[in-house]
Order: sequence, then structure tokens, then C-alpha cells
Amino acid sequence: MTGIAAAWRRMKHRYNLYGAKCENCKGVYFPPRIICPSCRRKGKMNDEKLSGKGKVITFSVVHAPPEGYSLEIPYVLAIVELNEGPRLTTQIVDVKPEDVQIGMPVEAAFRKLVEQNAHGLIHYGYKFRPAK
Ligand SMILES: [Zn+2]
Repeated sequence: MTGIAAAWRRMKHRYNLYGAKCENCKGVYFPPRIICPSCRRKGKMNDEKLSGKGKVITFSVVHAPPEGYSLEIPYVLAIVELNEGPRLTTQIVDVKPEDVQIGMPVEAAFRKLVEQNAHGLIHYGYKFRPAK
């Protein structure tokens, strides 16, 4: 892959939620996988753009941030099930912890996750917020 193509690919994945869909069993996986966990070598995995919408399956309110993170506390860490099926662990933002509910519809929001690290890099990623 050329540098430009790689950069575009990174951009695409930075601002959209991509999973991998298996051509064989139609299973959708997130994060994307190279090999289908059900079909193994029979499956061919393709990029699948996800809606970024889902619902809260379970959550917990975290009062102490992991070492090295300066997150606002308390914050909400949830397992979200995407409409396409995969589940992921994510932070829920733009809502008071006491207002988060199981089954609440949420959507992906892309933002800076880390302002600066030892190398001066800014990392982007997703969090989830209540769906409008
Ligand atoms: Zn498969």
C-alpha cells in the first residue's frame, strides 16, 4: 500500500466505525478480524462500515481513572451492542452517569481520546453518546 492510500485508509477508519463481514456466514465482527472466528479459512473478510448505532447492554460508573489517564470522573464505561450485532466496550459521554440506562440507544461520536502522549501524538477514536 502506498503512503497516500495508507493515510486515506487511516482517515476512513478514524472517523467511521468499520468492522469486518464474513462473506461465508455473513457474521459481522468488531474490531475487524482477518479470519472469521466461525468459518476460519473458508470465510473471506471484507470491510463493513457500521452504522455506529446501538444500545447499552450493561455499564458501570468508574470513579477512579486507569493509571496514566486524566479522564473526567466519574465516567461511564459500557458494553454497547451495535445494530449490526458486534459488542464493544466504550465510554459513554454527553450524559450524566445517573441518567445512563440499560437498553438506552446510543451512537458513536468520534473525538480525541488522548491529547498528547510521550511522542506528542494525538490519537482519535470513538466514544458513544445518547442517540438523538
Ligand atoms: Zn464466517
